[in-house]
Amino acid sequence: MTTGLTIWCSEAITLATVLLFAWRHDRKSPTYLIWAIGFTVSAVGFALVAARGVVPDIWSIQIGNAVALLGESAWIAGFRLMDKRKLEWSALLPPVIWVVGVSLPWVSGNFANRVIVYDLAGAVGATLLAFAVHPADGRREPARGQLGIVFMGLACFCFGSALWMVLVAPSLEEAMIYRGYMALGYGLLIIVAIVLNGKLLMERAERRWRAISITDALTGVLNRRGLQESYEILAGEGQQQRPQKLAALLFDLDHFKKINDRHGHQTGDAVLTEFARIARQFVPRSGAFGRMGGEEFVAFVPIEDQSQAEALAETIRADFCRVPLLAGRTLVPATVSIGVSIMPRDTVSWDRLVSFADHALYAAKRAGRNCTIVFNEMETAKEAEAAPGADDGELVPTLDDQIHALRRMGTLARM
Ligand code: GH3
Ligand code: MG
Ligand code: MG
Repeated sequence: MTTGLTIWCSEAITLATVLLFAWRHDRKSPTYLIWAIGFTVSAVGFALVAARGVVPDIWSIQIGNAVALLGESAWIAGFRLMDKRKLEWSALLPPVIWVVGVSLPWVSGNFANRVIVYDLAGAVGATLLAFAVHPADGRREPARGQLGIVFMGLACFCFGSALWMVLVAPSLEEAMIYRGYMALGYGLLIIVAIVLNGKLLMERAERRWRAISITDALTGVLNRRGLQESYEILAGEGQQQRPQKLAALLFDLDHFKKINDRHGHQTGDAVLTEFARIARQFVPRSGAFGRMGGEEFVAFVPIEDQSQAEALAETIRADFCRVPLLAGRTLVPATVSIGVSIMPRDTVSWDRLVSFADHALYAAKRAGRNCTIVFNEMETAKEAEAAPGADDGELVPTLDDQIHALRRMGTLARM
């Protein structure tokens, strides 16, 4: 048993050193540091346990095991910090269970009872570890499930061992031999967990890089590559699912060059970010929104009919021109023109959908800006023969126009 404990101590110190280097490399995340502390603490704890007979019993039994279990608390904390979740006091349960248990005279003076309490504390720690790696929204790496199974296996192993001790009530000699085998099994499961944890870190890094590769650095919305990927998914779903039409809403901020010239590039950036913030909150989850480049954005939305696309475009347009944007104390007037194209999902193609939206956008600019023009599926279908002209398309009445018209109707009705 002492040999096993010594091997574990040297392994734990090696792992702690590797993790410390990893943390020095990326100091923003405290996870590696906490895990390094966890392995160091575990090594110190087991070294004290292995030093039984050399150091006083209280150091070897009470303190040594408590310190070893504190290592588990640090691993739990590391997983929670990795996912940017709040630390919870429950992580301290394993050492607390041990300290409370071993303070009882009938536990501290009896090897089998000490093993039972230690194993119960270990089972609670392993269960907490399984919960800490549990997959959730935005945390869906496959290794999480596998790690969860190994931690639950570890919890069952510890619990089974405690139960065996209670049921069989072995002699001291038998219990010592059994403890050696138990430690071996526990060590093997921990090694599997360490390997899977490495896999989880790799999958996590890959997911983060992927997210970065499809995100626009300034506004945080999808970039062109992300938009293309989302479009492929939206267009691909068309064969089986309703709604059967796909709309592209192409947004271009009006006279944006002037905003940059008058208020500076930084203010221009702030206007772009603000537009992205406003627009993304209106685009339904079934669609996609992102930045095509410069001051152009696009939304792809599955729709049942044209009015849905018009309503979305008008809501975003009206909200953007109403929200006051400030550069210091100066108000920055900003508006957006929108070109909308609609195609049936079974015949849609990126090139045609975006090119029609571009035509519609051009028409919106010609119509005086700060408005929406729609090319519906009838107009986009005409394209087989000839692309629509600059004067084609339908000018969507602005929300203000619509409110004005309703008021007039109300007035007429009262006359
Ligand atoms: P229009 O109403 O016809 O669209 O006029 P516009 O001035 O918006 O269009 P134009 O294409 O002439 O100008 C676009 C400007 O957008 C030019 C470019 O400097 C600016 N721009 C492109 N990307 C960024 C960016 O990331 N940040 C800032 N601040 N400006 C950008
Ligand atoms: Mg432009
Ligand atoms: Mg523009």
